[in-house]
Amino acid sequence: MTTPLNELPSWIDSATFRLPESSFFRQRVPKDLIVLHATASSTARSVFETWKRPDNGKIAVAYVVERDGRIYEMFPPDCWAYHLGMRTRNPGHYNDRRSIGIEIVNPGPLRPDPEGGDTLNWWPDNFRKPWCLISEEEKYVRREYRGYRYYASYTSEQELAVRRLTEWLCRRFSIPRIAPPATLRDVCDPDTFCRFRGIAAHHNFRPDKFDVGPAWNWDCLLPIATSRPQAA
Ligand SMILES: [Zn+2]
Repeated sequence: MTTPLNELPSWIDSATFRLPESSFFRQRVPKDLIVLHATASSTARSVFETWKRPDNGKIAVAYVVERDGRIYEMFPPDCWAYHLGMRTRNPGHYNDRRSIGIEIVNPGPLRPDPEGGDTLNWWPDNFRKPWCLISEEEKYVRREYRGYRYYASYTSEQELAVRRLTEWLCRRFSIPRIAPPATLRDVCDPDTFCRFRGIAAHHNFRPDKFDVGPAWNWDCLLPIATSRPQAA
């Protein structure tokens, strides 16, 4: 027997990090977009602790994927919260409302140790917190992108989890299972992406964002036929 689409699958944990109803909008809205984010942190708990605060201003996403591939549902995916932070081209928070956000736990951009050590460091203490050794080449991707040259790798467990989660969400909400075409994958183009239906990234909507970033392996979501953005 398969689980009905409106029932939560057993592989999603909706209890451990459940946000209070004050942390999101309980209004249920149609969904035609999934937006991938990275947490700029090392654990799912870190974003949960921030988002559950009453003064956080309803900034959150419905799903967080831990480094080991565990999937946490933080609020019902047909509800919404602010997660894009767009100052223009987003009337009435249209893109926040129509999308389901998935945060993937990842520290984000890395920098060589400023003291000359053999590590690549992430942002705490002005990039003094070690993430990995420079010799651990599987733990990062080397690529120029938005002012940084190194980005922390996602884990294979996260790739499998995001694939499984997006497959399920696309079926449940009838969202096209398509990624942006290769020429648009890394760019910020709000005019195009405001009309895009499918799976996109935060960096497609804002030029100052590093997530989901160049370390994300879009191919892990295949089979997905890439296509021209479709009008909503
Ligand atoms: Zn983001």
